[in-house]
Formats: sequence, C-alpha cells, structure tokens
Amino acid sequence: MSVIGIDFGNLQSLIAVARNRGIDIVCNEVSNRTTPSLVSFGTKRRFLGEAAKTQEVSNFRNTVGSLKRLVGRSFADKDIQEVEAQFITAPLCDVDGEVGVRVQYLGSENTFSATQLVAMYLSKLRETASADLKTAVSDVVISVPGWYTDSQRRHILSAAEIAGLNCLRLMSDTAAAALGYGITKTDLPEDTTRHVAFVDMGHSSYSVAIVGFRKGQLTIKSTSFDRHLGGRYFDEALVNHFADHFMETKKIDIRSNKKAILRLRVGCEKLKKVLSANPQAMLNVENIMDDMDVSALMNREEFEALIAPLIDRMINPLEQALALSGLQVQDVDFVEMVGGCTRIPAVKQRISEFFQRELSFTLNQDEAVARGCALQCAMLSPAFKVRDFQVRDTNSYPIKFVWEPIKESPAESELVAFPRNNVVPSTKILTFYRRNPFDVEAYYARPEELPHGIKPWLGRFSIKGVTADPKGELSTIKVKARLNIHGILSVDSAYVVEDVPGEEEEEVDESGESPAVGEEAAPKKTVKKQVRKQDLQVVGVTTNLDVKLVQQLCSTEGEMASSDKLVVDTEHKKNEVEEYVYEMRSKVEGSLRPFLEPSVLSKFLADLNDTEDWLYGDGDDTTKSAYVERLNTLRSVGDGAVERQREAELLPKAETQLRDAI
Ligand code: ATP
Ligand code: MG
Repeated sequence: MSVIGIDFGNLQSLIAVARNRGIDIVCNEVSNRTTPSLVSFGTKRRFLGEAAKTQEVSNFRNTVGSLKRLVGRSFADKDIQEVEAQFITAPLCDVDGEVGVRVQYLGSENTFSATQLVAMYLSKLRETASADLKTAVSDVVISVPGWYTDSQRRHILSAAEIAGLNCLRLMSDTAAAALGYGITKTDLPEDTTRHVAFVDMGHSSYSVAIVGFRKGQLTIKSTSFDRHLGGRYFDEALVNHFADHFMETKKIDIRSNKKAILRLRVGCEKLKKVLSANPQAMLNVENIMDDMDVSALMNREEFEALIAPLIDRMINPLEQALALSGLQVQDVDFVEMVGGCTRIPAVKQRISEFFQRELSFTLNQDEAVARGCALQCAMLSPAFKVRDFQVRDTNSYPIKFVWEPIKESPAESELVAFPRNNVVPSTKILTFYRRNPFDVEAYYARPEELPHGIKPWLGRFSIKGVTADPKGELSTIKVKARLNIHGILSVDSAYVVEDVPGEEEEEVDESGESPAVGEEAAPKKTVKKQVRKQDLQVVGVTTNLDVKLVQQLCSTEGEMASSDKLVVDTEHKKNEVEEYVYEMRSKVEGSLRPFLEPSVLSKFLADLNDTEDWLYGDGDDTTKSAYVERLNTLRSVGDGAVERQREAELLPKAETQLRDAI
C-alpha cells in the first residue's frame, strides 16, 4: 500500500510518494510534475487535469478551476459573488446549499457541487498516482490553507472520501513545508529553538508562518494570511492594463469577449514569468479576437508599478505573524520561500527587506508542500517506518462554546475553548453542573476574521442521559472537545464524574499536550480527585455533509468514472482498428502477400477497405463492442498470415543454426 501527499493548489497540484529511500514527485500521464487543478465537461465524458487544460479556452463555459476556493462555500457568499466569479468561466449556482456549477455534460445541463468537483479532481490524482506506482492508492495527506475553516475542511474530507481516498490528515500548506524542512535538518538544536519564517505565495493566496524547530519536533508559533493575494491577482493587474492599452491602440474591447480575456490572461501569466528572470519581455497573443494578433513590450519597472499596491499588502501579514509569535525580526533565524510567486524579484525583495536578511531557498519552492504531506502520510501510516517528527499546527480562528446557563450553576454562558494560536491537535475538557440533558453549541468567536460569508456556527452537541446525582444534587459533567488532527472541531464524549471524598490530585493540563516549544509549563494546581462514573451519549450536528448524500455522491462518482473509462476504452479500440487497417494494408500489398491464398487476399483487402469506409461513416461513433468485433474479424485473417510469415523467416535461421551445430 502506497502513501502519498497531495498539494492541492489553486492553479496546479502535486502528488508526492513516500518510498523507503525518500520522497519522489509522481509524474502525470504527460510526464509533468504538476497537474492543472481543472475539471472540464464534454459531450461524451469529463476531462480532468491535463485533459481539461487543453480545452480551458475552447470549452470555457464547461471548464472549472479555483476548486479549492469554492469547496465548502455557499453560492451567496460575498467572496464567491465578488471575487471567485470573476476567475471562473462556468456559470456558478447553488447545489444542495453549496456553491456549484451548471455545465453541459453528455449533451444536457447538469449541476455539480464544489465538493463533487474536488472529488472528481482528487480521483484523477488518485488514478495518476496508482498508474505511476502500479498499485492501489488510498492513504493520503492533503494540504489545505491554514485559513480554511471547519466547514471547508469537512467538505474536503468528504470529497476525498468520494474520491476513494483515506485522508489521514489535512495539513496546512506551511506546516507541510515546515515538516519537509525539519526532517532534513540534522543540526536542529536540542535545548534552544530555531525560528524559521515560511512565506508561501501561490496562485490565489499568501501565507506566513513562524515556526519553532527543535530536534524531532516543530511548532507553528503563529500564522497570518492574505486570502486574496497571489499570482492570479498579478495576472489580473496585467490583463486590466493591456485591455485598456489595446482599447486605446487597437480599438478592440477585450472585456466584451470572454475568450479574448482568457487568451490575454494566458499571455499575461507567461509575460509575468519571463519578467521574473528578464528585465523586459514581450506579450504575444495570437488571434485574440476578430482575427487580430496583438503584442506589446513591458519592462520589469512597469510591471512592478502595476503590482505595487499588491506588493504593499504583503507587509501586514508579516507583521501580524511576527507579533503573534512574540518574536522580534532579529529572532527569526531563517526565512524560507514556498510557492510559485516567490520567484518574483519584487516579492523576494519585500520579504528580504522586512526580515532584514537574505532569503533561504533550501526547499524546492514548488514541491515542498507535497513532499511534506507525503512525509506526514508515511509517519501516520502503519505500513511505513519513518523517523518521527512531531508537527504541532496552530488554530487560526478562536472557537467558543455557548450554552444556556441554569440558575443554580455559575452564570457564564460561553467560553473560548480554543483561542487563536492554540496548538492543533488538542483536547479540552469543559465542566458543567446539570441535572438534565443539555446542549452546547460551538461558534467561531470572531466572525469578522472569517472568510467573507462563512457562517460562524460550527455545531450543536446534545449531551443525553443527564440526571441528578444520587443525592438529588447537580451532577458534574465533563465534555471532551477536540480540535482534531485535521483542524476540525469534534465533541466525541461526555461523562459524569464524582469527587472522591478527602482526596486531592494535581490538575492535568487540559490540552492533553506537553507545552509547546519554547513555552513554560503552567504551574500545577491541586484539585479534588474525581472518578469517571458514567459515559453519556453525545449527539452532534455539524456542517458535515449528510452521510446519505456522501454515499449517493460516491455512487454517482463511480458511475461517471466508469462511463468515462468506457468512452476512453472505446476511443482506444477505435484507434486500434484504424491502426490495424493501415498496417495490414501496407503489409498485404508487400511482404505478407505470399502468405495468403489469392482468394483470401482479395477478400481481406476488400474487408480492410470496407472497414476504413465504415470508420468514416457508421463506425465513426459506435460502441466498444462493435470495434472489438471488427478488429477480431480482421485479426482472424491477418494475424494468421503474420504468424506464417514469422515462422517462414525463422526456418532458414534454424536450419543454419542446425548446420553450424553439426
Ligand atoms: P495556491 O497556493 O494559491 O493554492 P498554487 O499552489 O496552485 O496556488 P503555486 O503553484 O505555488 O500556486 O504558484 C503558482 C503561481 O506562481 C502562478 O500564479 C504562477 O503564474 C506563478 N509563477 C510560477 N512561476 C513563476 C515565475 N517564474 N515568476 C512569476 N510567477 C510565477
Ligand atoms: Mg500552493
């Protein structure tokens, strides 16, 4: 069983595999190390990854990208309406409460939720990995942005399930990169902490993490983000500039034509990349619209002036991450770059100025996240033996519990159980005094910090079977809340405790964790010793997709996948028939002629010609079995002749060998 890591990127994704001798990147069917994060729908089948990329412009209404920005969001979200809609060329709509797309698929209109789209794409990655590794793939660690909320994480897990993947951990991009960094460093200190800042600027978002390393462990001390900063915004600045420019100089309105915008966007992305390594570059777009080609020269200073407002926005998250970590700039020992956009000189310069030091590029900036995920997967999988390296991630949004107070109990009605920067995973135990069943609800405590439109509600947990204690007094109920390995909130258990009269014990750290790197352990308090008396049932309602819906989506995905496979197999068979016809015709007219009876030969030639005509007529689009039948009929004659020819060629050789032997 293989273990893999997936860097699920907005523009492109990578798959890494853990092997005994190290981590490798898996190449896809066209030998690329990255696979476009795109899904496209056609009249006969879906196209996923590379195949979708080839029709990104021609079939733009039915091609969907930005999958990770859509999943777990609702159609009405401000972010979706105002930002994502401008990058997505397929019409968006509501599908079962989640944003989705309305596309033409198999000749009719269909809708798919973002979770389904992600599942389609992840299935493709699973297949790519299986094909390369020549074995089934199931266990996986998938990267998500550190700013993903509970609901987004839950939807990714459902998508993985629908894709037939067993996700062992959702890992933040920067934690994955940090793990890849830590495991290769043999000189990590034992008694002090090495502080490294990881800066990841990808296609759509920007993350900063300050990480503390010690031998065998890393702790994300703080993170900060700009969820809307990355390569696509630089491309957009260029698109806007050139749309104005060509309006002025060529009198063409590129904004009025979706295909023209797409073509210009592709050209601008290229231009941006060339400008990273060259002081000037040429934009060339053929047939942008109205049969017109356009070109323009741009130098790096002009580009930097266009993106200056975006570059300025890089500073705030850097300041925030540093402040949250409690460190000063000079305490940061190294600054590591991750993500495609950290190749832009203006980006590098701004980060370097901020930290007042040279940047480090010890990680492969494109592959670091996938590699870290594969490593984590190997560590979590029982099938693998890897040196352990503890990864303590951090919570990005404070989570509070809310409940109805009762008059005999303390009047508080809410508590922030997991503050920002709380270590992940971790467990907290909440104490309640009750004589009846009760509910607790979980919310994000600072809704204004969430991605626009995400609801702060996380779940309602009903604690069942609560009664008064044997004396008729309030029972003491412990509720165990967990921010699990995926960064998802769960309340899995609750139980009644009773004091043991006259005995005291040291209070246990509620997080259930040892203190974070560089943190002092809190002084121990003594409390009354309690024993666990009775387990209580907890019934939770969260933002998880309904179990039945997930099952249904699994079977729909299975049906679509087998229908795609049939279409692809049919295309292959058709090609096989075509190739056989051409190959045989040239052979029977040449070297194969003596091996067929003249009457058989003329009939065979006629059959070959007839099949060729059929391929251009009725046989152009038919069933796999019809191609198989044709091929078998032709092979029943042709293969025999080929065999006779082979034997005849071998005979003289055998005779010579026999003569030589004698
Ligand atoms: P995200 O992390 O936002 O989900 P992603 O992981 O798909 O996105 P990356 O692969 O890290 O993103 O980076 C892709 C971005 O980097 C694109 O915008 C791409 O144009 C840009 N990029 C790649 N190479 C260069 C380069 N040489 N110069 C400038 N930009 C580049
Ligand atoms: Mg990325």
